[in-house]
Amino acid sequence: MDALLEGLDPEQRAAVEAPRGPVCVLAGAGTGKTRTITHRIAYLCQRGHVAPSQVLAVTFTKRAAGEMRTRLRSLDVHGAQAVTFHAAASRQLRYFWPRVVGGPRWELVDQKIRVVARAAARLGLPTEADALRDLTSEIEWAKASLLTPEDYPLAAARAARDIPAPAEQVMKLYRTYEELKNEAMLLDFDDLLLHTAAALEDNAEVAQEFRDRYRCFVVDEYQDVTPLQQRVLDAWLGGRDDLTVVGDANQTIYSFAGASPQPLLNFPRRFPEAVVVRLERDYRSTPQVVGLANEVIKWARGRPAGSRLNLIGQRPEGQAPRFHEFDDEPTEADSVARRIKTLLDEGVAASGIAILYRVNAQSEVYEQALASHGIPYLVRGGERFFERAEVRQAMISLRSAGGVSGSLPEVVRSVLQKVGLTDEPPTGGSARERWESLLALVELAEELAAAVPDADLPRFCVELDMRAEAQHPPTVEGVTLASLHASKGLEWDAVFLVGLVEGTMPIQYADGDEAKVEEERRLLYVGVTRAREHLWLSWALSRAAGGRKYRRRSRFLYGLVPENHPAARVPGGGAAPRPPLMKKEKPTCRLCAATLNEAQAIKLGRCRSCPSDVDEELLEELRRWRAGRARELKVPAYVVFTDA
Ligand code: ATP
Ligand code: MG
Repeated sequence: MDALLEGLDPEQRAAVEAPRGPVCVLAGAGTGKTRTITHRIAYLCQRGHVAPSQVLAVTFTKRAAGEMRTRLRSLDVHGAQAVTFHAAASRQLRYFWPRVVGGPRWELVDQKIRVVARAAARLGLPTEADALRDLTSEIEWAKASLLTPEDYPLAAARAARDIPAPAEQVMKLYRTYEELKNEAMLLDFDDLLLHTAAALEDNAEVAQEFRDRYRCFVVDEYQDVTPLQQRVLDAWLGGRDDLTVVGDANQTIYSFAGASPQPLLNFPRRFPEAVVVRLERDYRSTPQVVGLANEVIKWARGRPAGSRLNLIGQRPEGQAPRFHEFDDEPTEADSVARRIKTLLDEGVAASGIAILYRVNAQSEVYEQALASHGIPYLVRGGERFFERAEVRQAMISLRSAGGVSGSLPEVVRSVLQKVGLTDEPPTGGSARERWESLLALVELAEELAAAVPDADLPRFCVELDMRAEAQHPPTVEGVTLASLHASKGLEWDAVFLVGLVEGTMPIQYADGDEAKVEEERRLLYVGVTRAREHLWLSWALSRAAGGRKYRRRSRFLYGLVPENHPAARVPGGGAAPRPPLMKKEKPTCRLCAATLNEAQAIKLGRCRSCPSDVDEELLEELRRWRAGRARELKVPAYVVFTDA
């Protein structure tokens, strides 16, 4: 059989081999969606149905786009674009700008919040940082939802938005923000998309040129498309239908920013002739991890029709996911670092390990713990590649290098050798990081040379400038620290989901808003499904060592971890096991058994942190268990409680 089709199951193969035209893969995490689209691109190119340069594959995060590029390279596809929506639009706009707008070229807004602050100052509105951040996000939501300032108040009311200021004020601020940008010839990321769509919609010549250039469109993670991105996609298509989309509605984690799984779920209706494939076999994770993922998402409420998928693990049995409770965060982080050290000693590669958290601020304690154990790590979403000192220095050297003309990669390598690119990598630390950045530049030169055989050094410098705008990160060897949002589409051998406490997971501002809590649950599902082999879930009852234990484990863990299991103790033998639950002498929350003091809570029978309605079956089971009538709680077999 064709090498490209080997290693695909029949459903994946159906999507790969489908004739050019609309294809939709609706499937759960780890079922091979990204694999399917990269193989489809390779297949279409190999069969001569389309040239790599005519393919435009888009996704939402730089890491996910980087992952697609890596996979395409490994399938020997060179020259196909696999980028974020923004990067694609940015490139196109640069190219079309002189024809569609003309005049001085735009600059990208560096820090949007500063422009919003200036707009607020102009209007005499408060300018505290927190308020500005919320207002900036609200303007982003409006733009992603294709709303003008004037549309905003009604649309926000219809969407029952939790708005940071009176709607009229947001509207004025949005309008002034746009004015300030126009005055300074600044564009924000959303403007890049808007202008790109408008250029294709309004300028026949531009549209024709684009049609000739790109013929085959692919979208990964389509469940997170915003109306604005959908408009760009439609402008790219220009009425054509050579579009492959893949996604998992259960992984919609950007709806706060206007994303919606509806275009994915409606795809078969929009394109009745589409080849629609559903995948259920999970190739990424052990059956134990798959079981836990199914369990996490099983409790989701309000799932749209078409998103109910049950994953079936395909890999051999592995270890059960571990659950750990700690007294405080430093102990939690230290235990994570120790466990990572053991994994490294057992031969797991550092790059195969990730610590995932809900908010970036959580990284610091893990950075410290890893550093104190001498474990190399990198923070995703930290300093961006083209902003790094060594990369800026390298670009200056490349620009000023003249008259060297071997192949482009050779030329680039020889220039970079003068700024520190050695043949052998340094052993670790920041020297290694710098080296990796320089090597990444050589790899970019290789990529360009493969796509554009006659590219020279000046052409490479232009390419770098363009990429600097799109900002794609290099590969660096080390344990990954990343937010759950940034982990989408990626996978690691060992995943540590940390900080699973109420207020962080779900995040505090989601409390009381079912839709937001559900998005948090999907985030946890995304996190769980990143693990190939080892999965660790932990939480700490206080922030600082010796602090008051006022925090409670995440509500999402109820039903997965019984309350009084002996494993709920500090690994490493520190503290004694937590005492079993007290007898119900005081009114307690019907779900998590926290003592209830407020009259309202007692009346409702639940605390503020617990969901308002829960699965009655589970509830009954918990009640019987607490009352001592059930000998044991039926816990799924994959849940094992261990000391580290
Ligand atoms: P996510 O929803 O997280 O983006 P996905 O559906 O895109 O996941 P992939 O990343 O494409 O899944 O695949 C998950 C893992 O399973 C990858 O390591 C991939 O190489 C592997 N895989 C996919 N399909 C197969 C297959 N048919 N046989 C063996 N391995 C496979
Ligand atoms: Mg994927």
